[in-house]
Parts: sequence; C-alpha cells; structure tokens
Amino acid sequence: MVSEREKLDILGVEVDRVTMDSALDAFRGFLDSDGCSLIVTPNSEIVLNATKDPSLAELISSADLVIPDGIGLVYASRIAGSPLKERVTGIDFSYNALKLLAERGGSAYLFGSKPGIAEKAAEKLKEQIPGLRIAGFRDGYYRPEEEAEIAAGIMASGADFLLAALGSPKQEKFIADHREDLGVRAAIGVGGSLDVWSGTLERAPQFYIDHGLEWLFRLKQEPKRIKRTAKLPLFLIKVLLTGRKNGDH
Ligand code: UDP
Repeated sequence: MVSEREKLDILGVEVDRVTMDSALDAFRGFLDSDGCSLIVTPNSEIVLNATKDPSLAELISSADLVIPDGIGLVYASRIAGSPLKERVTGIDFSYNALKLLAERGGSAYLFGSKPGIAEKAAEKLKEQIPGLRIAGFRDGYYRPEEEAEIAAGIMASGADFLLAALGSPKQEKFIADHREDLGVRAAIGVGGSLDVWSGTLERAPQFYIDHGLEWLFRLKQEPKRIKRTAKLPLFLIKVLLTGRKNGDH
C-alpha cells in the first residue's frame, strides 16, 4: 500500500499523485508485503474506457498503485487546476522497478506480446540490468481456457513480479482475475513495453518525450493507431466540460 495516498480524480478515475521516487517506494513496500499488489498505469484512452466500462473503473479503483501514464492525464490535471507533480510513464516505472527488484535478488515473469518477444526482452533486460533474474516468460496469445494454466505457470516459476503485456484492459483483467493464484508480490500491465525492450518497437526519442509528443511518434510507427490517438482531444474536452459542470472554471 502507498502510505497516505494522495489522489486526483479524473473523470471519476482516481490516480495517485506520484513521482517516480514515491512510486518506487510504494513498489518496495509491495515486495515486503504479502499478497499480490496490483499496479495500473492508465492513460487518457483507458480513463475514457473506464467511464463506459464499470468493471474497468472498479478494477482501477481496487489497484494498490495508479500511476498516471500519458501526457493526456498531465494536461487534464492542469485543466482541473491541480497539476500532477511529474509525468511517470509506465515503461520507465517498470524498468526502474526491475532494477530495484534485481538489487534485492528478486525475479520477474514476462507475460505477453507476440511469440519470441518476451524471450528477447528477457535477454536484453538481463544484459542491461545486472543481477536481474527472469523466472519465466510466455507470449500473450492464448485461448481463454488456457488462462488458469498460464496463471499456474507463473505461480510455479516463483516470480516476485509479473509484467503483463496484453494491451489494456486485457492485461489488468487477467491480473485481477488471477490475483490470488499468481504467487507474485506485485503485478503490472505494461502494454507495448516488451516490444520496446526487445528492440522490436522503437521508443520515442527524448525530444518527443520531453514535449509530450510520444503519441505522435507512436503514430508514425503504427499508423493504424490513428483512431485511438484521435481520442486524446475528446478526452480533454470531456475533462474541460466536467470541470465547468462542477463549477471549477
Ligand atoms: N497483445 C497480446 N495478446 C493479445 C493482444 C495484444 O500479447 O491478445 C500484446 C501485443 O502483442 C502488444 C501488447 O499486447 O505487445 C499491446 O500493446 P499496446 O500497444 O496495445 O499497448 P497499450 O497501448 O494498449 O498499452
């Protein structure tokens, strides 16, 4: 649990006002606690989806740490007159969490993405993070009836930390549905992070990150994301209108 969680409500979704350091402190706490702590990293698209999908909204509110990933949430916090301290991306947080895990001798399980990607990401991560132990990996394409067996495989691996890369909300739902039978201390949905760590997908150059334009770079790499990217202005308009309705503006 994050001690005294300071939260921000964005369209009914409560995100934690964290910095990278405070998010990692929370992660440290999860490793020291029993049970599986759930970490989610919503972006504007996920928040919009949560406004229409009560089970997703409930899942996010049941999470132990809600990291506002994505520039849309940072803009939203400014519109709400309560700016977030820092933008903490899910991929950077997860990478730093793996470093912390390695320092403590813990191990991770990489689950998701196309066949071969998790294995390649495991190799690259082990090269970059001294002492990192990968307890197991598998791809993210399976039949629903295989889920219980996958969860049992994660449990049998003895991993402390599960990174699920199935896209949202599939990854969050998998973790929530199997929370009790994964045997890990913490689990996070990481979207396309394994694709990036494996070298399959290029991460945006620093300029794009610094200027809140990562979505633009991603669009250049994967033009079929246009429909998803186009939801960003819709999200901001909704936040603005909600603020008006509440008399904040
Ligand atoms: N994926 C998967 N199983 C599925 C659907 C998707 O493993 O049934 C993987 C996909 O290969 C990719 C990741 O999930 O690696 C989805 O990343 P996406 O770009 O959608 O992340 P998001 O932007 O949704 O966080």
